[in-house]
Amino acid sequence: MGSATLSIDLEAIIANWRALDAVSAGSVETAAVVKANGYGLGAGRVAKALARAGARKFFVAIAEEGARVRQALGPGPEICVFAGHMRGDTDMIYDLMLTPMINSLDQLTRHLEALPTHKFGLQLDSGMSRLGMDPGEWAAVRDIVSEQSPSLIMSHLACADEPDHAMNAQQLAAFCQMTDSFDAPRSLAATGGILLGQDYHFDLTRPGVGLYGCLPFAKAKPVVGLSLPVIQTRALEAGDTVGYGASWTAKKPSRIATVSAGYADGLIRSMGNKAQLFSNGTPCRLVGRVSMDLLTVDISHLDETPKSLDILCPEQGVDQLAEYADTIGYEILTSLGARYTRRYIGAGG
Ligand SMILES: *Cc1c(COP(=O)(O)O)cnc(C)c1O
Repeated sequence: MGSATLSIDLEAIIANWRALDAVSAGSVETAAVVKANGYGLGAGRVAKALARAGARKFFVAIAEEGARVRQALGPGPEICVFAGHMRGDTDMIYDLMLTPMINSLDQLTRHLEALPTHKFGLQLDSGMSRLGMDPGEWAAVRDIVSEQSPSLIMSHLACADEPDHAMNAQQLAAFCQMTDSFDAPRSLAATGGILLGQDYHFDLTRPGVGLYGCLPFAKAKPVVGLSLPVIQTRALEAGDTVGYGASWTAKKPSRIATVSAGYADGLIRSMGNKAQLFSNGTPCRLVGRVSMDLLTVDISHLDETPKSLDILCPEQGVDQLAEYADTIGYEILTSLGARYTRRYIGAGG
């Protein structure tokens, strides 16, 4: 094996989409969020697999991402852009049939002037203070918007990964208050919101991270594997140190494998001296600091030098690795580097 290999199980992504779809009742549609290049796994491949499985709506963060997804999917599926209608995006929105999620009065004006008959959705701020019109702004434009028949009214939950957080019910109430008497399809739930229950589902759900096998969807099938080639090994005496800052010292004679991947590949520095790698299921400690392109691993207890070591595998998933690095699965996934060979499994991958 020459290079580090990231394997992406498209069948598992489809299974996770179906499982999240099954959480909501009958007429609720389940979309798929493929922003940030499909959470680092390849937006085109992921979107195509999910479209074949029946997904009809996709969400991206910005228009450029939408353009790539449109290229992969061809005409038909709807591609919605969370950033809305940004200055300079009009041609792309029109030519590639993207649906901007309008989030301010400025954007509404821009959209209705530039593309008066082009489909759009609307984003409301129900308490996250990030994107979308606040209740005052919404009250000022809702009659105008009503005449334009928006394809979706959406908002986003700030604390959906904590089911008991008071914000969930507060945002639900704020969203209902803003939209109950408005005639348009509605969406509030991402992965976490789907798991909060039926009250949060409305007409359309927008899962992202759960599709890719991560929390808060605890029952998700794992999607990614990451296998890293061993470049070299060396024998250490007791007292020898490893890596930058000499942050790990051998207490006894040890064998260290140097592995080809580092923080430039998304194996972020804070997992140094904490995460493990696996040789056919046998754990081996990551020792010393993470370098830009290299990791050092204690393989003293292995009988043979492995050709490669796994850092994402059944024994250590994305969320576990995130915990070692003091972050969340989302950041591990979207940091996965461009140097990996991406190998797709299943779904015609
Ligand atoms: C990222 C995002 C989603 C998907 O969230 P997950 O937690 O990954 O399921 C849904 N809606 C909006 C507005 C988002 O920004």
